[in-house]
Amino acid sequence: DVTFEGVVKEFGATRVLHGVDLAVRPGELVCLLGPSGCGKTTALRVLAGLEQATAGAVRIGGQDVSRVPTHRRDVGMVFQAYSLFPHLSVRANTMFGLRRRGVERREAARRADDALGLVGLDHLAERYPHQLSGGQQQRVALARALVTAPRVLLLDEPLSALDAKVRTGLRDEIRRLQLRLGITTVFVTHDQEEALAVSDRIAVMDAGRIEQVGAPEELYLRPASPAVAAFVGHSS
Ligand code: ATP
Repeated sequence: DVTFEGVVKEFGATRVLHGVDLAVRPGELVCLLGPSGCGKTTALRVLAGLEQATAGAVRIGGQDVSRVPTHRRDVGMVFQAYSLFPHLSVRANTMFGLRRRGVERREAARRADDALGLVGLDHLAERYPHQLSGGQQQRVALARALVTAPRVLLLDEPLSALDAKVRTGLRDEIRRLQLRLGITTVFVTHDQEEALAVSDRIAVMDAGRIEQVGAPEELYLRPASPAVAAFVGHSS
């Protein structure tokens, strides 16, 4: 459903992605796992159409994302944190993408409440972001990403600002919801435990390249390189 084909990304003279190839199957959750600065976020931004690849292409359902106008891109995205509009209620935050697509207000509110129901927060629709915990704010961000029923869900370190207990709870909840909705998902993280817990497959990145792609147990038992072994916690 999602394919990276020889994706190169340069910022000026700096090459950040060195030809990334990856195919994410429909309904699959793939983690991009790797150390800080290896290019995970950049890969996700190219996938979202927020950055243009220098060479190569990313396709969703066969279509080159760089050719799809912003408002027609069929992706929902959740960022690390603090991405809600502070002056809008939870419901208004969640409706935002629908209103921008021209959905009438009452219909948008109804669908927003449905999306908030998916993350267990429909009872907090009238609140404002500062009245929510960090975990609740990330749930709202998730509802906002899902409200348009996108084809692909992109998660960029969605748990990294949360404390440990909230993090594992929300991690498991994201995975349950992803399986239930069957939504193709790319999840960026530098946390190997997190990747091992949520993924169908993990793509281990290092220095702008994908070192290995495989199911968690496969990477753990048969790392293809020392970088992968270091990153999935197996010392060979
Ligand atoms: P982190 O987990 O720290 O966010 P990452 O693996 O997501 O790391 P990226 O954010 O993709 O890595 O960054 C990869 C490299 O590209 C870094 O060296 C970064 O400094 C550089 N980079 C990212 N965006 C830009 C930009 N707009 N202009 C110049 N360099 C950039």
